[in-house]
Amino acid sequence: MRLVLLGAPASGKGTQANVLCTTFGVPKISTGDMLRAARAAGTELGKEAEKYMSTGGLVPDEVVIGLVAERIAEPDAQSGFILDGFPRTEAQAQALDELLASRGAPLDAAVQIDVPRELLVERATGRRTDVRTGQIYHLKYNPPPADAQLEHRADDREEVVAKRLDAYDAQTAALLPYYDSRGLLKTVVGTGKPEEVTNSIKAVLA
Ligand code: AMP
Repeated sequence: MRLVLLGAPASGKGTQANVLCTTFGVPKISTGDMLRAARAAGTELGKEAEKYMSTGGLVPDEVVIGLVAERIAEPDAQSGFILDGFPRTEAQAQALDELLASRGAPLDAAVQIDVPRELLVERATGRRTDVRTGQIYHLKYNPPPADAQLEHRADDREEVVAKRLDAYDAQTAALLPYYDSRGLLKTVVGTGKPEEVTNSIKAVLA
């Protein structure tokens, strides 16, 4: 299963990717997670990425394309992967197509998780991640257990979220017609409970 998850920030891509990678037995590849890990490790790449991430902008294409090219060449990605947060621009989508074509292993589908913008801000600002497990919670809709070690992403603050949503509208929304014209786009409603969204995704992939 080679899958791309598309959707605005806080549409539920990370939550769904966590579930789907277990269902399909393939790794989740999240460029956001990889960039946050590089930032936490204090690498040059992490420092460079932070300049864009802190303001809600997109990290340059060549940086993220390089990360993904290395990651999908690893042994565990040979049976497939769930891409979460990549591609985000048409240049990234084209680079991914070329990478996969050179390996004779094209994408199976691009699933869009559709959530109205007004809900996304509330979801992002209430989102918390348990740093020990990677599990994603929401303070109101999916409260974390008392012993969770919670992290609130700096870029989930309201003013940064608005910029991330603008970046999505300006650059990433163009990927919907890109994948639609290739017959790969499947859209699910992303406003329900996480399990309902998972079932919708499984249904469109069946
Ligand atoms: P995410 O966790 O997917 O919301 O990503 C967090 C931030 O990392 C984004 O707001 C961007 O600054 C950066 N980022 C993640 N993936 C990409 C990508 N494919 N292209 C450019 N920037 C990215």
